[in-house]
Amino acid sequence: MKLQRVLQYAQSLLTDAIQEGDIAVDATAGNGHDTLFLANLVGDDGYVYAFDVQKEAVDATLHRLLDNALEHRALVLKDGHENIAKYVTKPVAGAIFNLGYLPGSDHSIITKPNTTITALETLLQLLKVGGIIVLVIYHGHDGGAEERDEVLRFVSSLPQKHVHVLRYEFLNQQNSPPFVVALEKVKEMGNK
Ligand code: SAM
Repeated sequence: MKLQRVLQYAQSLLTDAIQEGDIAVDATAGNGHDTLFLANLVGDDGYVYAFDVQKEAVDATLHRLLDNALEHRALVLKDGHENIAKYVTKPVAGAIFNLGYLPGSDHSIITKPNTTITALETLLQLLKVGGIIVLVIYHGHDGGAEERDEVLRFVSSLPQKHVHVLRYEFLNQQNSPPFVVALEKVKEMGNK
């Protein structure tokens, strides 16, 4: 297959944006797959901040890092991504969100439009010029369509001079397949 799958594409964007020594954010740690992926990219001189509201997700992410002997490269926080500014103060090279619920867990604990948008606003301030935020938008679950629409409204309204916004999506797949929205900061946002 020549066209990259959605998750492959998300990872290739992050690989391009994040160098060794950089700061990266996993806004929805879940089972820790993306946290581990980011920890590999930042190297021993960089750092990953990973957020999740569920203890189960934090534990799974910590275990995955420990299994790969990369726990020293990440701080896994049991807190919402809307509170990123409490923990991250240095410029961020790349961030990822997987919207929706934790696979194999409580389907009622989902990401929500208001907190996702608050986190995006914070990350857009923290992001380096040239930095990337990737959202993998799952929208087939209860509440998913509302979050998809609010997030799309928000990102579509961002000023083109400061942020380039892209949507990457397969148009003929069945059952609400996830799609990628990527934001690249091209100019400082200025103070709010
Ligand atoms: N990236 C994950 C992986 O590799 O397994 C999957 C993430 S899953 C689709 C979405 C996660 O977002 C869930 O684990 C859920 O607990 C978490 N979540 C929900 N609201 C959140 C919030 N406000 N801040 C951070 N995480 C949140």
